[in-house]
Amino acid sequence: MTIHAFAATEPKSTLTPYSFPKPVLTEGEVEIEVSHCGICHSDIHLIDDDWKMSRYPLVPGHEVVGTVRETGPGVTALKAGDRVGVGWQSASCGTCEWCASGQDQLCAKARPTCVGRPGGFADRLILSERFAFKLPGQLESEQAAPLMCAGITVFSPFRLYQVQTGMKVGVLGIGGLGHLAIQFSRKMGFETTAISGSPDKEREALELGAHQFIATSDPAALRAKANSFDFILSTVSASLDWNPFVSMLRPNGKLCFVGATGGSISIPTGVLLSKQKSICGSNIGGTKMIREMLEFAAGHGVKAKTEVLPMAEVNSAVSKVRENKARYRMVLKNQ
Ligand code: NAP
Ligand code: ZN
Repeated sequence: MTIHAFAATEPKSTLTPYSFPKPVLTEGEVEIEVSHCGICHSDIHLIDDDWKMSRYPLVPGHEVVGTVRETGPGVTALKAGDRVGVGWQSASCGTCEWCASGQDQLCAKARPTCVGRPGGFADRLILSERFAFKLPGQLESEQAAPLMCAGITVFSPFRLYQVQTGMKVGVLGIGGLGHLAIQFSRKMGFETTAISGSPDKEREALELGAHQFIATSDPAALRAKANSFDFILSTVSASLDWNPFVSMLRPNGKLCFVGATGGSISIPTGVLLSKQKSICGSNIGGTKMIREMLEFAAGHGVKAKTEVLPMAEVNSAVSKVRENKARYRMVLKNQ
């Protein structure tokens, strides 16, 4: 059998059809017939080789929903016909202290779904059953796909850094990750502010659950919010001057990066120590947290706002993400 995919052949290239023989399933692996695949900005970073780790031909895609079609030897948790979701991670050792505690994303042998192996812009995906998650019935496939990377990436830091009910949260950057972060933050009971460079997103940010909206283009509005937030989650995909956002933190506040800008951060140490502010980061979320996030999303009606295009229109969809025109997640669908 042949797997049909779309691949970049060099940095920043458009994607072209790319076929390869289906590999034999090894111990613990499952074959998934892909129905939907979201486009995360990490796919754009990979296509463009922003992180200097891409290998070509590169089949992006790590927000996958599909149906299990075949199970390899030793598969116990899944069977043919199960509807599953797959995110950024496709493997880990399964035995180290991180895997044992459900924080598999920290395993030294953690392997991404679409780096060094073909991802979900394809009709089939093969990976370890440990990283294919049965989806709650309430979640529509096109909305579940973005949860598998964007959703877990913004859900996890609120738990990891123990953000408490009533705390003041800023969500910086309202794209695929940010629009889900607003929803999780509001539904977890945090006072939620959307902070965006796109003033036209104000109405939708409020509809998604933000209590207020601040435009980063208005320096006076940023200054007026000095000493206001316990936790700012940055989902921005490009490097900025982060000092104005550190100023917006209250004592003990945290600026948490999930946006993978590839850049470095310059903050005067005195600014951090005097009010005990911290800069931190968060990496997707482990298998335990993914299950918790899916239940939370299903139970609280967290829904990605999606625009669905056929897989064959992958290049138009990628362009919309690249140009910050997606509202808010492009999802590819196999016909
Ligand atoms: P996205 O949908 O493209 O959204 C990114 C948002 O960042 C944009 O909507 C925009 O928000 C803001 N932005 C973009 N370019 C900007 C610029 N030059 N200056 C200021 N703001 C800018 O991307 P995404 O899929 O949400 O991914 C966001 C980032 O998270 C990417 O870097 C991605 O690689 C990373 N990521 C990390 C993890 C992890 O585990 N840590 C997981 C998934 C993704 P406004 O229009 O509101 O300003
Ligand atoms: Zn992603």
